[in-house]
Amino acid sequence: MNELREELNVLRQQGLFRSMRVIGGPQAGRVILDGREVLLLCSNNYLGLADHPALKEAAIRAVERYGVSSGASRLVSGTMELHEALEVRLAAFKGTESALVFNSGYAANTGIIPALVGKGDVIFSDRLNHASIVDGALLSRAKYIRYPHKDMSALRRLLASTDVAGRRLIVTDGVFSMDGDLAPLTELAALKREYGALLMVDDAHGTGVLGPTGRGSAELCGVVEEVDVQMGTMGKGLGSCGAYVAGSRNLIELLVNKARSFIFSTSLPPGVLAASLAAVDLVDSPAGADLRRQLARNTALFRDSLHDAGFNTMGSETQIVPIFVGEAEPTMEFSRRLLAEGFFVQGIRPPTVPAGSCRLRCTLMATHTESQLERAVTAIGKAGRALGIT
Ligand SMILES: *Cc1c(COP(=O)(O)O)cnc(C)c1O
Repeated sequence: MNELREELNVLRQQGLFRSMRVIGGPQAGRVILDGREVLLLCSNNYLGLADHPALKEAAIRAVERYGVSSGASRLVSGTMELHEALEVRLAAFKGTESALVFNSGYAANTGIIPALVGKGDVIFSDRLNHASIVDGALLSRAKYIRYPHKDMSALRRLLASTDVAGRRLIVTDGVFSMDGDLAPLTELAALKREYGALLMVDDAHGTGVLGPTGRGSAELCGVVEEVDVQMGTMGKGLGSCGAYVAGSRNLIELLVNKARSFIFSTSLPPGVLAASLAAVDLVDSPAGADLRRQLARNTALFRDSLHDAGFNTMGSETQIVPIFVGEAEPTMEFSRRLLAEGFFVQGIRPPTVPAGSCRLRCTLMATHTESQLERAVTAIGKAGRALGIT
């Protein structure tokens, strides 16, 4: 056991030790942290749906009618009416033939990628893609090639110079989770056509939030038809839990037959499914459009104010607004100072981001108020100046 303690001590010395903070009450704009009310600026509950009355009501009704567990993997006895209803709704929302629900985004990516590619195939992956994509790629045993972040000429060279016996899979985050910038989906779609590749987009941070009707980054970029594998999650903008993949009937049937995280895992419970269904209905309604507009207003206010104060927001184009710091220690000190002032913002360090690019990752919610955000920017400016970051 001393060995484990040693390893932990090394992490502490490197400023990379992590621990969890307990939030009291729901994931709202303001939360109780260690008994104190703070402004939550690091939740992915972008539209504020995590404690929305419509989702809560749907979950409660589903629990009363269907109980609390699905009891098994979907292929054994765990497919319930609500799984089907949610998949039909998701396919309609995404405009695809079919959809399949996974237990989480992590489970989806580690299931989908090995189901689609294996030995003899090649994966082309943006260097800043989410860890679950990396892990899915490793599990697949396909050749894994990372291209520099959003560098389309580098990707073209790699596509042209790599001999591929089998399939090519291009995979990207729609919104990069730690940088808040958008994938160049129009160019990716053109390259996918040119090289006969499959294109997979992970829209964990775009689902419900981006595009005129909330269908995500592919809608925003006008390439919905070009994305073969549209993966997204329901624990972020949709305020619930789980993930989905939307695409052709053949894709979905293949995943039902091959995706191990789907086959060998107890499926999502009724309360979660019903909340997700209510969330899709909500984001696909005028009320959803209002929430997206409010989120966009909050984001613009916050990001513009940070720029005015001299911070580097690392090319953010969405509700994810990083503040570049650099090294781990000042990043965590920045976060601690803000918490002392009543603002909860997480510092992000390796291995989540490359060494030397530590940052505060601020995330906006539709339910933040203008005055809350103005106070946050003031506190960030004060702490940032004290630490010599701006
Ligand atoms: C959060 C996230 C995931 C994982 O989704 P979970 O449902 O939280 O497991 C996958 N991909 C990206 C890009 C994410 O940000």
